[in-house]
Amino acid sequence: MAGESIAFVPTMGNLHAGHLQLVNAAKTQADRVVVSMFVNPTQFDEQGDYANYPRTEEADIDKLQALAVDVAYVPAVEEMYPDDILTKVSVSQVSDNYCGAARPGHFDGVATIVCKLFNIVQPDKVFFGEKDFQQLMVIRTMVADLNVPVEVVAVPTFRELDGLAMSSRNTYLSEAERQQAVQLYQALCQAKQAVLEQHKRFIEIERYYLQLLTGQGFEPDYFSICRRHDLQAATDGDKQLIILVAARLGKTRLIDNIQIDLTVGPLNY
Ligand code: AMP
Repeated sequence: MAGESIAFVPTMGNLHAGHLQLVNAAKTQADRVVVSMFVNPTQFDEQGDYANYPRTEEADIDKLQALAVDVAYVPAVEEMYPDDILTKVSVSQVSDNYCGAARPGHFDGVATIVCKLFNIVQPDKVFFGEKDFQQLMVIRTMVADLNVPVEVVAVPTFRELDGLAMSSRNTYLSEAERQQAVQLYQALCQAKQAVLEQHKRFIEIERYYLQLLTGQGFEPDYFSICRRHDLQAATDGDKQLIILVAARLGKTRLIDNIQIDLTVGPLNY
């Protein structure tokens, strides 16, 4: 309705408690909440991954109704891509490394669909999870560079009780893999502690945890200690850091991250 503020939460559906955190945050910050659920083909670099992505529309709608979400927007692929689209949004630098390097074209797909969704929904505020931190940076950069008239709100990562970051892809894990998956978060916590104690030797710490994860049965894509504001490799003297990790466990690709603030010392752990 005219004059009311709109909060928008873009998702790919298969909603879990992490997504619902975003919805709850959105509800506190606007008059109306719109949630989109769209498995966007152009952001998948593997066709099998796109085809197998969990789709649970009915259960998702029930969850959104229970939270009194105003609009669930579930466009068909033909609605979003009636023809081959000739325009794409491509954010350089923050897209280049980590998941950008491991998944060619992924962030162009993300930036383009998010831009389209913003133009359709016309929200005042948009909500993204810190779980996908590089994605959050890509969206923030796009919004700043293209003067998109929205405020981007970041929501902290919501975790299972043992620390595993909630993700739609966790449903792919076997029971044994699910037990093991928490080691990814444990590695992040231990590496954070090492950074807090040493304030440097980032490359050694990265190497150590890449090897540790490999020894534990993961196939890591990257385990990188970065500056938080631009995701470049951290150097001695940088204070606001983040460790980004992606690793395969069996067929499942998991990503996670942990933030580090070196201005406040080890007691902040
Ligand atoms: P997806 O459906 O995986 O594309 O995620 C939709 C949105 O939910 C993105 O902004 C994600 O970063 C966010 N999200 C996914 N998992 C979590 C989580 N465990 N905690 C917080 N936000 C999340």
